[in-house]
Parts: sequence; C-alpha cells; structure tokens
Amino acid sequence: MYKWIEIDLDAIKNNFLQVRQYINAQTKILGVVKADAYGHGLVEVSKELERQGIDYLGVTEIAEGIKLREAGVKTPILVFGPFLPEDAGSFQQYQLTATLSSLSMVEKLIDLGLSLTVHLKIETGFGRTGLKYAELDRLVELLNNNENINIEGIYSHLATGMWANPSFAKQQFSVFLQAVEFLEDKGLMIPLKHICNSAALVKFPEMHLDMVRAGTILYGQEAAGREDFKGHLQNAWSLKGQVTYINELPKGHSIGYERTHILKAPSKTAIVPIGYSHGFSVEPVPKPKGVLDLIKVVGKIILRFFDHPKVKVYAQIRGKSVPVLGKVGMQMTVFDVTSIPDLKIGEIVQLPGRRTNISPLLPKVYLKDKKPVSVSKIDEKYEQIGNIFSLQD
Ligand SMILES: *Cc1c(COP(=O)(O)O)cnc(C)c1O
Repeated sequence: MYKWIEIDLDAIKNNFLQVRQYINAQTKILGVVKADAYGHGLVEVSKELERQGIDYLGVTEIAEGIKLREAGVKTPILVFGPFLPEDAGSFQQYQLTATLSSLSMVEKLIDLGLSLTVHLKIETGFGRTGLKYAELDRLVELLNNNENINIEGIYSHLATGMWANPSFAKQQFSVFLQAVEFLEDKGLMIPLKHICNSAALVKFPEMHLDMVRAGTILYGQEAAGREDFKGHLQNAWSLKGQVTYINELPKGHSIGYERTHILKAPSKTAIVPIGYSHGFSVEPVPKPKGVLDLIKVVGKIILRFFDHPKVKVYAQIRGKSVPVLGKVGMQMTVFDVTSIPDLKIGEIVQLPGRRTNISPLLPKVYLKDKKPVSVSKIDEKYEQIGNIFSLQD
C-alpha cells in the first residue's frame, strides 16, 4: 500500500468513555467529527461514537452532515457553520440541526417556512459568527409567532480555552449566560446550552452546562489542559509508509532540491513515497501570539538552518529515529538510515504528521483489538494497490 493512516477505533472508544466518566451523567457529549474527524475518518469514527452511545455529533459543513446520514448515522448532528439560503432545505431533508448565527438567517428561514431544529450561536468574543446581545430583542420578536423553528439549543465558542489564564474564557462565559438569561426572561426556554470545547471541558467544570463539545480530546491528542485530565487518553492515529528504495552515497554528496543538505559522512539513505502533496511535513505558520512567540518562531528557523537535531523531522523504523535529509519533495522524502545497516525494501516506517493536514486521499486502515477490520479509500486509484492485511503480519 506504500503509505496509509492507521486508526485505532478502540482508542477513540477509550477516550470517549474517559470523557464520559469525567463529566456529570446529566451532561450530554457532542463528538466533534469535522474535517474528516480531525483526519481519523468521518464515517467510521462517527459510527464508533454512535455505538458507544454519544449524544450528538458536530460538523462544520452541511455536506459533512449529509455524508453521515447517507452512511446511516442516526445520532443528532449539529452543523456549526453558516450556510447559504439554497441549502436550507437540506437540513430538513437530512434531519440535520442548523446553527442560526444571524438575524438575516432567521428571517430567511421563517420566509422559507421550513420546519427545522436549530441551535442559536451567540457572539461572546470569538469574533467569527454569532448573534450579538443587542440583536436578541429582535430575535425574540421574530421567533415569537413561529411554529416551524424548534430552538433546541444555544451555544458559543471560546477563543482561549487552551490558555493558562482563564480570564477571557470566563468573560465569554458570563456574556453567554447573560444572553441565555435575557432569552429566558422573555419566555424562550432552551434545553441544550453549551460552550465547552475539549480544553474548556477539562479546565472549567462549572461551564459544562447541558452539553460539552469534545473534539481534540476524543482523538487522544495533547489538548491544552490535558495535564488536569485525570483520565488516560490513547493515541488513535498513526501515519505509516514503506521504504521503496535504498541508496548509499559518499561524504559531500548533496540531497534533493536546491542542495540544502550536504552529507558529512558516507551515508545510507531510504526513500519513502510521501511528500508535501500528501501534507507530510507541512506546518501552518500562524501569526505569532506575542513577542515571546515571535522569538520562538524565529529561533526555530535559525536552528533549522543549522540542522540542529532538535528541529529535524524524524520518522521511526524498528523503533529507531531516522531524520529527513534535505527538502521534502512533492511525493518523496529522503531519510538517513545509516543507523540501520540491514534495512530492507518494503519495511514499515512510522511517520510524524499533523493529522488534519495529512491528505484524506491516503487510505485509512481501521483497527480493533490491534487488528485491521476495514480499509477506506476516498480515491479509487488506491483500490488495487497492495494488501494491508498481509503487511500487518
Ligand atoms: C472544532 C470545534 C469544537 C471542538 O474543539 P476541540 O478544541 O477540538 O475540542 C467545538 N466547538 C466548535 C464550534 C468547533 O468548531
């Protein structure tokens, strides 16, 4: 198969059950499965969470919700993102819960006369989408004489749940509670109030309300605040590839485009057919959060220039770390495998990767009891290649 992603469904089950234990039994859990379930496979992860009794699923786009319904998922699904009026009918058709985040959206839905279940999204400080406090009066007016729209939930999203300093998160929470109180005073009782993502659900039990929205933590990743989490999370994702070529090159030989690496000693190199077109070694470069962060970013680039071992990218073969040499190519990467003299073609390499960046076109192999139970491929061209079941032995 050359390269694939392994998903441990038991790890996802474990992480969900750990979160379930961590919070009150009355608080519902919404499993966030947007972006192909953070690279773990939208349908398979959702079905596993459904088997474990998750209360709700959450995605960003309506297309993701439709895909789940078409795959037979029955759990309620909340679509977070805003949508265009022409798609409103699909919420009804596929029994998806819409997010209402502006007055114009509410007006449009009332005009269309669709009967929908919705959650209201409140702007509390994130600065992306949401109804503002000053708009709530008009909202109540609009909804007062409306039979079609079932307001099941109300929520907001925290900008700094991951920070050690809780003050902005607390401020957002208080703005949210004010909005809820305003609506309740007007007689609008909303059953599902929610604001926590993974970091916040760990750190702020007082913010759990009726439901928490768990993403990162279900996948066992280093969620900020994880150190406070008493449960044991398990990693559910790994990226694997095979060595397809082995080479020996002399001292002084250059490696790859623009000769960014010159061998300091005679070396053994290996090719793994994965590159930046698959999202390998591709990092987002966000705006630094402050001067300290800026210094860190610049420092890292300087260390990279000097090939400092701390900033090299490493893969694992037979449990040994092997560094990338030179620039990562579009579909191929060179590794220094001098430390494994008897390396064979076809051997399996464990690769590092940012899971939401790795191409969803790579085949995914789902494991239960550490054994492959199914393979999913988005692109038909992978269908004929290799046999993962024999590779596992
Ligand atoms: C992505 C997302 C979450 C989950 O965030 P995590 O930090 O991954 O738990 C929750 N709510 C909304 C609206 C999201 O977009």
